[in-house]
Amino acid sequence: MVTRKVKRTMEKDENYFFELMKFKKHFFEDLQNRMNHVYDPRHQSYIDYSCDVLLFMIILKNACDLESMRTMTNELNKDECIINIKRALNIETLEELPHYDTINDFLSRLDPDELRNIRTYMIRELLKKRCFETSRIGGKYWAIIIDGTGLFTFNQKHCDHCLRREYKDEEGNVVKTVYMHHVLEAKLVVGNMVFSVDSEFIENESEEVPKQDCELNAFYRLAFRLNQTFKRLPICIIADSLYACENVFKTCHNNHWKFLLRFKEDRIKSISEEFHALGKMEETNGKEQQDKIRWVNHIAYNDWDIHVLEGTIKTEDGQKRFMFLTDIKITDKNCRKLLYAGRSRWKIENEGFNRQKHIRYHIEHASSHNYTAMKNHYLLTQITDILMQLLENGSNILKRVKKTAKEISSNLLEIIRMKLLTDEDITKMKKPTQVRFT
Ligand SMILES: [Zn+2]
Repeated sequence: MVTRKVKRTMEKDENYFFELMKFKKHFFEDLQNRMNHVYDPRHQSYIDYSCDVLLFMIILKNACDLESMRTMTNELNKDECIINIKRALNIETLEELPHYDTINDFLSRLDPDELRNIRTYMIRELLKKRCFETSRIGGKYWAIIIDGTGLFTFNQKHCDHCLRREYKDEEGNVVKTVYMHHVLEAKLVVGNMVFSVDSEFIENESEEVPKQDCELNAFYRLAFRLNQTFKRLPICIIADSLYACENVFKTCHNNHWKFLLRFKEDRIKSISEEFHALGKMEETNGKEQQDKIRWVNHIAYNDWDIHVLEGTIKTEDGQKRFMFLTDIKITDKNCRKLLYAGRSRWKIENEGFNRQKHIRYHIEHASSHNYTAMKNHYLLTQITDILMQLLENGSNILKRVKKTAKEISSNLLEIIRMKLLTDEDITKMKKPTQVRFT
């Protein structure tokens, strides 16, 4: 147990802004250069700020947990902040930080694919580092969780792409329409961390579409892109029971991916009947009934060869039984790992969305009302989140002092506002470092 006094002493000479920049440099050497070279849609004769400064401001806003764009402009309006950002980004002249209107104007024109590409670069760098190899399922497949969530809700039409939900009275008349924006995420699970690898916005092509966009359609679009982006990466798709259907099996099969999908018995009756009918099920020798994991390999479903796994896992609401469908053959050796990997979907809800909504980043708060800027803000949140998770799980000092995400963010803001990065810091930042995730 670290006492408050020990904690104070340990933190005395720490500069979390320096730590963050060092991590950025260590993992993503080319990040700033890439941020500076996104396709710039602005009229080139009116440019005061380079793209990297504009994008970095939002990364800082997110990392420091500043809820609104206005707060960002106010809180960072200090000489120390200007000098720190200038030094951290190695910019020759920076007299003022960009105002939030300038940043939002830029983000409303920037193609979100530019930020998607930057995130892809980051994920590739992480995979190259080979420090997360033990996270692979069966030593082979990278677990990628697919899950959707709501981002913004409006009482009036916001744009032509809004999803609509209509509320009707007893006679069937529409009494209220809610307009929404949702996103589907693909997140890579490595150790305690979940990194966003792709985001597909669930949106209508126009207001007139006869049928609205939905999560499964967004999945097929996302899967297509994911396969193009990460060719030959051995992936296991983990998703909830909505995805336990033939089209998803087919998509995974065509992309040479494995799948591990939550299964609710009414979704495909023939599979659950066969699972229960097979008397000779294989099970592990758990001490108690609840420890037992049961499975049946090779259940035929149309042209598919499906394996079914059932087991109990401790959840926030007590012990719960879960069933999964997979095309990875279940054995005595891998059954427990598969069960926990399947259950890891909760990570994206708890550690992913919940954290990004309620603990840090406030992804439900629209930083701009322009739809393109909204998407870019969202993608910058995912980029920040990768950096922050690496920092929180890899920094020696943060591992020792044990702080909440909120505390880390507020310390970070404090230090940017109060303490200047020294020449020595800058030299140290460039030196190679060792990072371990344990
Ligand atoms: Zn809209």
